[in-house]
Amino acid sequence: MKPNAELISIGNELLSGRTLNTHGRDLGAALFSIGIDLVRDTSIGDHIDLIKSVAQEALQRTPILFISGGLGPTVDDITRDALAALFNRAIHPHPPTADYLKEWYQKRGRKLNSIGLRQALVLEEATVLPNPIGAAPAQRIDLPQNKRCYLLPGPPNEFNAIIEKSILPELKSQYAHLTPKLVRSIHTRGIGESDIVEQIQLQNISMPEGIDPGFYPAQGRVEIRLTAEAHLENELDQHHTHLLKLFSDWLDRPKERAD
Ligand code: ATP
Ligand code: MG
Repeated sequence: MKPNAELISIGNELLSGRTLNTHGRDLGAALFSIGIDLVRDTSIGDHIDLIKSVAQEALQRTPILFISGGLGPTVDDITRDALAALFNRAIHPHPPTADYLKEWYQKRGRKLNSIGLRQALVLEEATVLPNPIGAAPAQRIDLPQNKRCYLLPGPPNEFNAIIEKSILPELKSQYAHLTPKLVRSIHTRGIGESDIVEQIQLQNISMPEGIDPGFYPAQGRVEIRLTAEAHLENELDQHHTHLLKLFSDWLDRPKERAD
């Protein structure tokens, strides 16, 4: 069966307007590239009970849950405490991570104190996924029914580096049968969304099951984006060519022309 994934982004600053949440976009694109759909991205504040209940609900729906933020050393970093309580697991120091942190701080001329050392705390039986550029590592918690939960640090460059270096390769090998979806775009200019849809209806074009059309307007342009599973490539190309012809008078990128 094709798995999907969900993300819970944690941090008051994501809700107050201080920080733009970029994890949904980055994770969505990374998972899309290996054929997994990110189907929900929930942002919540730094509240332990909220983290527990939102994570529990998500795990009833999805086999792959990503949780980001709140793994650092400060008092608002409560993610691991929340999940330890939810999964009924102890929290242990992880000596290889403590060694890594000592070196990491040393290289930057800083001394690791007991507060910084909190970043070496991991949940019982978690698999530690190294952080190639920052301090706190990520953790994978394997759960019954082949479900898993990834805890990742909040800084976007660290979040993305761990996804790329550790998580995509392991998901790719676990779900080796998955193929990325195919995408075909038609970039138009000077024709509105409703006129595009009317033209499509007038032509009696209906997309077969499995080909999803999306319409993305911005500044006088509309991108028509068709997405489909890999086995529908022929049908997808036929519909793409048909739409390129239909909107040939409005193509924003003439190179896309069908003929
Ligand atoms: P650290 O060890 O750096 O504290 P952390 O795992 O505790 O990492 P946070 O404290 O939640 O993460 O966030 C660290 C930084 O990353 C903050 O500047 C925060 O605003 C930013 N950040 C966290 N989550 C996101 C997100 N979803 N999108 C963009 N930036 C984020
Ligand atoms: Mg923090």
